[in-house]
Amino acid sequence: MADTTTTTTPALKARDYNSDIKPIWCPGCGDFSVLLSISKAFAELELRPENIAVISGIGCSSRIPAYTDCYGFHGVHGRALALGTGLKVARPDLTVLVAGGDGDGFSIGGNHFLHACRRNVDLTYLVMDNRVYGMTKGQPSPTTEADWDSALAPGGTGVRPFHPLVIALASGANLVARGFSGDPNGTARLIVEAIQHPGFSFVEVLSPCITFRPDQREWRKEVHAAAVEETDDAARAARRIMTDDGFNTGILYRGTRPAFDTSVPAAPADVADLEREFVL
Ligand code: SF4
Ligand code: MG
Repeated sequence: MADTTTTTTPALKARDYNSDIKPIWCPGCGDFSVLLSISKAFAELELRPENIAVISGIGCSSRIPAYTDCYGFHGVHGRALALGTGLKVARPDLTVLVAGGDGDGFSIGGNHFLHACRRNVDLTYLVMDNRVYGMTKGQPSPTTEADWDSALAPGGTGVRPFHPLVIALASGANLVARGFSGDPNGTARLIVEAIQHPGFSFVEVLSPCITFRPDQREWRKEVHAAAVEETDDAARAARRIMTDDGFNTGILYRGTRPAFDTSVPAAPADVADLEREFVL
């Protein structure tokens, strides 16, 4: 007799995406809110945890895969995008979220960042940007202001900061957005949009490091929703991003490039046949 019973999968709430591991971030760290935003986004999209992979490198924010109940990989420094790209190409059915910090993503992983934007594989890259290396005690990172005075860089580095959104845009990212950890619902909405948009989506989330950058408590007063509509015109988006105050939040560019085609052509049946083609 045919089985006529039906099974329904109960809808998951944001907390269902969290693991039992308690985050060891400093009390007040912005990354707590970003974790909440990620969970809210997964719940809103009704994704199953077994269909999600959260991939990271090294740093405070890169601990995030351990705090979710999805598949995850805590990789080596600066290599999160290489891991995430490889995974998405091999398993295009998974939702791949690559997450980490500004030091991991823009210094050690800077080259991977450029080429991940260019390849436009369908994944989301979320960078919790606090303009400092938090885990290793407060060294200036690529996004640190040139005049930020600290014990490790007295008087500041004097080096112009890296502009991740413009670089993402110039390198070919298909969606560019900026959020703020103090607005978990707004950031969750950006993550939803980023996951749904085809191709490589880059979301920078301003996420204060209250331990080494207590000045970033002021970000709450400075952050504001972008006053302009999102655009698919890269030149217009570049002009806006280059000339804004760095605290505009929202989707700043939504491109139309098709995502990298992950369908792999059939491999040769016999590697020996391939080798023979190269015999001199
Ligand atoms: Fe967060 Fe900074 Fe503490 Fe790291 S050092 S957990 S970034 S507040
Ligand atoms: Mg950082």
